[in-house]
Amino acid sequence: MCVGVCVCVGAKKKGGKRWQKCLFQVGYQVNTSRISTLNDSMILSVSPQYGMTPLMHAAYKGQADMCSLLLQHGADVNCNEHDYGYTALMFAGLSGKTDITSMMLDAGAETDLVNSVGRTAAQMAAFVGQHDCVTVINNFFSRARLEYYTRPQGLEREAKLPPKLAGPLHKIIMTSNLNPVKLVMLVRENPLLVDVGALEKCYHVMDLLCEQCVKQQDMNEVLAMKMHYISYVLQKCMAFLLDRDDKLDVLIKSLLKGRDGDGFPQYQEKFIRDCIRKFPYCEAALLQQLVRSIAPVEIGNDPTAFSVLTQALTGKMAFIDAEFCATCGERGAEKRCSLCKMVTYCGLMCQRLHWFTHKKICKGLQEKDAPRLRELNDEESDMVKETASFLAELCLKAEERMVSSGCPGPSAPDQLNCPSTSSEGPPSCNQE
Ligand SMILES: [Zn+2]
Ligand SMILES: [Zn+2]
Repeated sequence: MCVGVCVCVGAKKKGGKRWQKCLFQVGYQVNTSRISTLNDSMILSVSPQYGMTPLMHAAYKGQADMCSLLLQHGADVNCNEHDYGYTALMFAGLSGKTDITSMMLDAGAETDLVNSVGRTAAQMAAFVGQHDCVTVINNFFSRARLEYYTRPQGLEREAKLPPKLAGPLHKIIMTSNLNPVKLVMLVRENPLLVDVGALEKCYHVMDLLCEQCVKQQDMNEVLAMKMHYISYVLQKCMAFLLDRDDKLDVLIKSLLKGRDGDGFPQYQEKFIRDCIRKFPYCEAALLQQLVRSIAPVEIGNDPTAFSVLTQALTGKMAFIDAEFCATCGERGAEKRCSLCKMVTYCGLMCQRLHWFTHKKICKGLQEKDAPRLRELNDEESDMVKETASFLAELCLKAEERMVSSGCPGPSAPDQLNCPSTSSEGPPSCNQE
């Protein structure tokens, strides 16, 4: 029998039917002030109405508070005795709510359960166009699975992964933005990870997880490739760090540096191609599919290795367009370069990081796109003003930094792989 959890609000113990009624009222109308008065004794296991548990109802209705409460009180997240075999995770995916989808996954929802027509939660969500939920499900990796490595196993005297690294590493595993610049930024922002010894342990664990994903009974090539990719990025971070602590900035700049002429980030393309080529399980169908898509493409043409990899790993197309940050690939970027209006950034830091290379093509982009620019200038005068003040602020900051460091002016790294300086090269007065 399915164990749904019956929640009764504002009623003393009654017969089963009455409980169930209360429960579905709660399922439809969340009143958190009343919910907070719940206690465990008010929760019963009942047969769910129409095969739907309260958790399924709440997930489908997008009621995060209610889902959280039901889970806290022991609702079975994997119950799929629904008439058509749906699980709460499937309903969360159908609702399009990524927070609820994550909540179900964190609570232990199985991603490979199928409904009566053999579809998983990710497939159901994709079917109704809820691609953000698909990405959340496809990229899910339970913290518990990683924490296994924080305890010594068998004859080990020391765990493979120090417990303090589990959190930061899990954050990297869970990111759905696979832009290598973003991954390096995630390493750089955490002092625990900016350490050769720590990175070495992390990448070993990622390699073990990759192997596990390939060798487990229901082989998960997608997750294996993602683990390998993260391992590769961590190894690169390590290699750059071995030199000097601030070398991660150099790695970021190498990844961003565009070639002369069109600004295409050649190093980034080669970086990702090299990573794919080094996937250790050459019989994997996914690897062969990636190689087939990438190998015939000349460097600089579409599709890029990054877009092919992103699509394979997250099921989403990676576009290089206005919606995405030109530096870190984060979605929802709204700050436009005020000169060419052709690239967008998620914020000041990303624009600053990109300027050393963007400045070389910015002018060309302006000239190429002059008619559209005039249009934009009319239509988006507010936005232009906003970006202008944003750039003025940048200039000010750049000047301050130059004064405080006694540096006469910004200089950009010239070598692709091993630039000798890691100057900030911010969008400075050049942009006026
Ligand atoms: Zn960004
Ligand atoms: Zn520009």
